Amino acid sequence: MSQKAVSILGATGSIGVNTLDVISRNADRYRVAALTAHRNVERLAEQCAVHDADLAVIADPSLQDDLAAALRERGARAEVLAGEEGLATAAGMPEADIVMAAIVGAAGLQSTFHAASCGKKVLLANKESLVIAGEVFVAEARKRRASIVPVDSEHNAIFQSLPLGFEAGTADGLAAAGVEKVILTASGGPFLETPAEALRTVTPEQACRHPNWDMGRKISVDSATLMNKGLEVIEARWLFNAQPGEIGVLVHPQSIVHSMVAYRDGSVIAQMGTPDMRTPIAHALAWPERIEAGVQRLNLAQMNDLSFHEPDLQRFPCLRLAFEAMARGDSAPVALNAANEVAVEAFLEGGLRFDRIPELVEAVLQRVEAKRIESLEDVLEQDRVARCAASDIAEGMR
Ligand code: NAD
Ligand code: MG
Repeated sequence: MSQKAVSILGATGSIGVNTLDVISRNADRYRVAALTAHRNVERLAEQCAVHDADLAVIADPSLQDDLAAALRERGARAEVLAGEEGLATAAGMPEADIVMAAIVGAAGLQSTFHAASCGKKVLLANKESLVIAGEVFVAEARKRRASIVPVDSEHNAIFQSLPLGFEAGTADGLAAAGVEKVILTASGGPFLETPAEALRTVTPEQACRHPNWDMGRKISVDSATLMNKGLEVIEARWLFNAQPGEIGVLVHPQSIVHSMVAYRDGSVIAQMGTPDMRTPIAHALAWPERIEAGVQRLNLAQMNDLSFHEPDLQRFPCLRLAFEAMARGDSAPVALNAANEVAVEAFLEGGLRFDRIPELVEAVLQRVEAKRIESLEDVLEQDRVARCAASDIAEGMR
């Protein structure tokens, strides 16, 4: 069997590390082309040495020499590049068949978009790309015949539960496939039972201690505010060409049912598994085949409770704000995401209270006007505008 070459944008993060784990378990099928990181030189160099990567890219250009030295020290042969151009090279390398897009936040947009422009098989973990640039991203992927395979566990579950042949980013709507609704499940995060008043004093450590999943810090905070689910609703809108009314959310604290598809005839198809990102990663890598992922098997006989209920939009306004931004359309989701990134960063640095995250997002959505988005440049411009507004408003909330 010929090996497929995989580039990983954001190799040093939680998704990146899990992807390398799955690749190692399937070394007969996959090899590593490029690996990239933001600033973690040591981990990136180590990964390049262990996986014999062709190319190493550090996003922060001031660390290029350090990376070269760290690779030499380990006897790794990878070529070294840096900055946004280096990320684009990693995303578009002719020798790479598959690109895992696993940078966190809007910072991943340009390289992820470039992978689609180059017609790659794009394994999409970087949900923020689709949230802010969904329409132009999906159009570009279709034009360049790139396939987008969702890695986010909910979207991967929906993808698995849709009829065979339903390609992510497809032009046909869900109704044409007999689908009434896609239903995203949400664990509810660490504060599912926490009273509203207690959310004032939440610390970054508490917010990042997710009950079921081990993830990067930004997405962990998003899970705690339920903004993660809001971003995922917008992600589903573009991945599955879903109308806003065709997307539902249910809280399911056990994180066993990863999402569901409800059909016209009353059938509901769900995908289940232990909460381990290596399952959706392995599925996306091998699709339409199946490979070993190294995950613990699901033992339903040992589970006496799988429960589902409606989310509480009062205590978790971020989810409501995301539905509103999706309905408003144009650049509203760009503003939602930018404001959230600024808010989460400020919270993680101790400069903003947890319960102020939705307040800041709402204030930004009220302040900035929604503009029509027609290109990647429009997205980047509106992202800048919203970040400025968010930093300004956050100053007054300190
Ligand atoms: P993480 O923080 O663990 O890793 C982020 C990666 O992106 C790192 O390799 C980092 O070096 C790189 N990076 C960060 N900022 C960058 C910048 N400015 N420029 C270039 N590279 C940069 O994040 P994660 O938890 O692995 O999440 C990655 C993406 O996958 C996010 O979009 C997240 O929403 C999505 N996702 C993650 C999980 C999960 O279980 N961790 C699940 C579903 C979706
Ligand atoms: Mg998810």
